[in-house]
Amino acid sequence: MSTAAIVPAAGSGVRLGADRPKALVPLAGEPLVVHALRALRTSEVVDRIVVVAPPTELDEMQAALPNPWHGWVHVVAGGAVRQASVAAGLEALSDDHELVLVHDAARALVPPAVVTRVVDALLAGAPAVIPVVPVSDTVKRVRDGRVLDTVDRASLYAVQTPQGFRRDVLATVHATTTESDATDDAGLVERAGGEVCVVDGDAEAFKITSPLDLRLAEALLSSRRH
Ligand code: C5P
Repeated sequence: MSTAAIVPAAGSGVRLGADRPKALVPLAGEPLVVHALRALRTSEVVDRIVVVAPPTELDEMQAALPNPWHGWVHVVAGGAVRQASVAAGLEALSDDHELVLVHDAARALVPPAVVTRVVDALLAGAPAVIPVVPVSDTVKRVRDGRVLDTVDRASLYAVQTPQGFRRDVLATVHATTTESDATDDAGLVERAGGEVCVVDGDAEAFKITSPLDLRLAEALLSSRRH
């Protein structure tokens, strides 16, 4: 079965304190999005990529991609919210991909093994798959500066990307959902009553959001290189 990946990369770099879209912020000399694409490429399970870029940065995004990838990666314009960007990526896919991954450019250092686990679960028949890691902190519900209660963390997991879908499942929820506040695509499937399966994620697939995350990512890359 053929697998395509949509890489939403149309977010701003505001929380990172950057003067450019987050996906184009350099990490060890290369834009974040290039690291994310390399992980997908190294996994050898992704046949085609659509990168969804800010509409004002299409040329810059195209120029950031290594030349040998130009036949493999296609750049399209994103929307105002993440969900709209993923929908734009879906529209740009050709018909010949039965499986679709959605991978945030911000999870630039995802180990290729995570990508493979997600695709393997789809190939085994799951309609939607997400990588997760157990929550290690104690979690409390807080309102107006006071603790309401402590949540039992035994059943709590943090969700990563790539999230994987049978293409018809993802296309249907995007076509029928009007909420724009979804922070992930599996959430749309859940709300529609669909089944979402989990595989093991990896701490190295953390989302680069703050300047501290960027420093951690630099350190991780450097340790991988030595
Ligand atoms: O804002 P957040 O970190 O949750 O964004 C997750 C991913 O969605 C990022 O890779 C970001 O570039 C992307 N995004 C997008 N279009 C938007 C907003 C975010 O592609 N309008």
